[in-house]
Parts: sequence; C-alpha cells; structure tokens
Amino acid sequence: MYKKISAPLFDQFGFSAEILSAIKSVGYKTPTDIQQAAIPRILEGRDVLAGAETGSGKTAAFVLPVLHLLTRGEENAMYGHKKEIVQAHQVRALILVPTRELTIQIGQEVRKFAKEIDPWVKCLSVYGGVNIDQSIKELRVGTDFLIATPARFLELIKAKAVKFNQLHTLILDEVDRLVGSGFKEEVEQIIKYLPNKRQNLFFTATFPDEIRPLVRKVLDNPEIIKQDPKEKELIDQRVLTVNFDQKTALLADLLNKNDWSQVLIFCSAKRSCDNLVKKLAEKDIKALALHGNKKQHERRDVLKEFKAGNSRIIIATDIAARGLDIVQLPCVINYDLPRSPNDYVHRIGRTGRAGVEGMAISLISHHEYQHFTVIEKRNGLRLQWESIPGFEADEIAPPPPRRSRPKKKKGHKKLTKKQIKRRQEQGEDKPVSPYKTPTKKEPEKPAEKPADKPKHNAKPVPIPTGKPKKKRDDEPEKPRVNASIWGRK
Ligand code: ADP
Ligand code: MG
Repeated sequence: MYKKISAPLFDQFGFSAEILSAIKSVGYKTPTDIQQAAIPRILEGRDVLAGAETGSGKTAAFVLPVLHLLTRGEENAMYGHKKEIVQAHQVRALILVPTRELTIQIGQEVRKFAKEIDPWVKCLSVYGGVNIDQSIKELRVGTDFLIATPARFLELIKAKAVKFNQLHTLILDEVDRLVGSGFKEEVEQIIKYLPNKRQNLFFTATFPDEIRPLVRKVLDNPEIIKQDPKEKELIDQRVLTVNFDQKTALLADLLNKNDWSQVLIFCSAKRSCDNLVKKLAEKDIKALALHGNKKQHERRDVLKEFKAGNSRIIIATDIAARGLDIVQLPCVINYDLPRSPNDYVHRIGRTGRAGVEGMAISLISHHEYQHFTVIEKRNGLRLQWESIPGFEADEIAPPPPRRSRPKKKKGHKKLTKKQIKRRQEQGEDKPVSPYKTPTKKEPEKPAEKPADKPKHNAKPVPIPTGKPKKKRDDEPEKPRVNASIWGRK
C-alpha cells in the first residue's frame, strides 16, 4: 500500500491561472475536504447537495467553481460564452441565504476572489431592512452574482427589478436553516420564475428531514456529498451547571479570568441580550448586543467593530449563529440554550474554524438540564457536566426563574361612551370620569396552610461533579484538556 504523502492542491481542479493566483493571494494552500469533493462535480455542471460541518469551507467550495464557470464559460455548455457580459436587470448566479449577515459575508468572499480574477465581475448583496429602491437601482445594470435573502428577493422580482434570461446557477446556502426559518415557500415561489435549464447547488451543515421535499423538487439527479464531522475535535465543548441566579456572576467570572481575545455570547431573546449587556456593564464588562430589534446599520456596525477586534464581547440571539465568520474566534458561550439541537451545532460552529481550536461553553441551570440532555442526544454527544468552585448548582432545584413579562399598566380602565351614559342615567351626579373605579374585592380568606409543604415541588436534581453524567461501560471517560482554562485549578 502506498501512503499518500503529498497534500492535495488547488491545481488538481483545472482552474484557470487567474483563479489559482487569486486563491494564492487569499492565502489558501490546500482545499478543505468539502472543497475537494464538491469542486470537481460543480465544474462538471452537475447538481450537488453538499453537507459538511460549519467552518469546513463550504463558501469557497461553491464560489470558486462558479466563478470559474462564469468567467471561463466556454468550457461548459450551460454557461454560455466566455466572458459573457451581464445585461441590464440580469443575474447569472443567484445565491439564496437565510440571514442578512450571510448575504454580506458571502458577497465579501466573492469579491475577495473576483477582484483578482476579473475586476469587472459584478456582485450584489440584497436583504430586507434597508430601502429597496437602492437595490432596484443597483440591479438596473445586472449582476454576475446576486446574494439575497428570499423574502427581499421575492419583493425585487415582484417589483420587476430582476430578469433571469442569463441565469446559470442557483445556490442555496445553509439549506437547513433556510427551511428551518420558514423560507421554504418563498424559495419555491422564486424557483417558479427561474429558467428550467440551470445548475442547482445546495449546501448545508445538517440534514434534517424537513429539507427533503425541497431537495427532491429542485435538484436534478444530484451528486450527494455528505461529510461526517472530523475526528479531531476542534471545539472543546464544556458544560457548566450553575444556579439560575448565579449565571451572570459566573459569566462575569469566566470573562474576567480567561484571556479570550473575543467572546460571542448567545441569549435566547432580544430583551435578554439587552439585559445581559446592562448587567455586565454593572460589573465593568463592556459588551455589545446584536439582535433583530437593532437597526440594520447598528447590526452592521456591531459586527464591524467585532470583526475589526475593537470590541471583545458580543451578546447575540441566534441571528449570529450562522454566517458569522470571525477567524479564530476563541470562545462561544451559551448563556441561554438554543431551542433546537441543530442550532446548538451552528452556534458552537462559530468557533473552531479553519483548523484553529476553540471553546464552546454552555451554562445550564436546573430548568435547562432536560433540554440540554435532548441537545446532547440529538447531536450524538455525551459531554462531561462540570461546575466551577464557588458557583456550584444546588442539589435541589431552586424555584424556576420567573419569566418577566411586560408589566400591565395598573389603574382604571377607560369607560366607553355607552357606559358613561348609563352611569349618568343611573343618577350619578358627579361628573363621570371616563375611567372605571376599581371595585373593591373582599379580602380572600387565606387558604389553610399545609404543614411544612415546600414552596415548589421540585425534585432533587443530581448534580454532576466532574464525573461523566451517565456512565457507559463501553466508553472510556473523555479526557478533559485545558483543565486550568478557568483560571482556577
Ligand atoms: P462554512 O460555510 O463551511 O461554515 P466558511 O466557508 O465560512 O465555512 O469557511 C470558514 C473559514 O475557513 C473562513 O474563514 C474561510 O476563509 C476559511 N477557509 C475556507 N477554505 C479554506 C482553505 N482551503 N484554506 C484555508 N482556509 C479556508
Ligand atoms: Mg457557510
């Protein structure tokens, strides 16, 4: 048997000299596994369904071959003539993605290569939340690459801002997320406008059942590439149990005691992000919030500051779980758990990218134990649950956290005109206020106290203390690395 000793190179694909020099100038030396598997099939003109974990280089796996085909089209019948010039309102490669951030990021990736190959390659990102007129105007001259969120793209179609006579390729990136975020219908509607003769490329990190109908409907005899996660774990996943009311204190302790250059913290709701920013500020820790209630330019600025390394901590909802690629982001923290197990994979995939190790920490309180077990199970994980001295979770679950709801305004209800009239008719001589006077309630008799009944009926929850949560005979205990990372031993 011969041992493969040489690393694969980009020149195995038959790329043009310009593409090879662009790849070199970007600094990529060897293609990643998904690039090796997908690029030749895309260059053949095949439809492709490609799945690989986050951070595996899927963007370049479609950008490079499509760029090659669009700029050197004479080699492939589907792509028309060499250096075909894009006409007014036309789009040559359409990339649909689930988030605004991803449209911008992929646009940057395309431009990064395109400017080295052919500075005339046009690339446009369009997304909701900004004035549509600007996008309509930009589309007048046509574009080689259009990266769009589905809802905004449909609006542009309906505004007759875009035509498809020159469309060669449809790419759906993050298909799992597109379908999971409810964009399936928009995508199906968009497809009805496209010419039948086209190449279709689907990229995804996971293969949930929900993507199947779309795969069957859109892809024509696709080459299916499914890559299992790499053996070597680039992400060190840690799970810390903590009482709910101690979470922020533990988070602050971790942030202070570890010298992570940058940290991305996930919360489940927009309001929780803002609250956490405030709570950390009280502890002199500066963080920026990133969520859907922020205006588009605010979101862009927050990301820009973070990417430039000017801010250390971002607290975000799941809008940052996909598409955000900060090279060498060393740490991701789940302050709240994601609702879906799939999202857990995407969140932690923001670290451990491009071959650099990272750490993902989930802070879980009693009410989240069961949900985290589901996340582990669905993702085939069996993690060690730990606790940090001084922040150990109680054995008995404290009362579950109260969901804070916007307070109802107390006071008097406004009377309708009819009610005011009726009261006047009933002989109320005082000017009738349009506000109801609250009727006094008889004070309720206190219910008889059951003797010594606990306030809540929580059962004692077993707390893992450094040992694996469940032990299996066939599984050796996972060795923990970086045991001193917490700043305490
Ligand atoms: P995915 O879409 O699979 O989550 P990305 O395409 O965002 O991953 O790539 C993750 C990171 O890896 C990016 O920073 C990208 O620039 C980098 N990258 C991609 N391909 C290569 C390569 N062949 N060599 C080195 N870095 C790469
Ligand atoms: Mg991607």
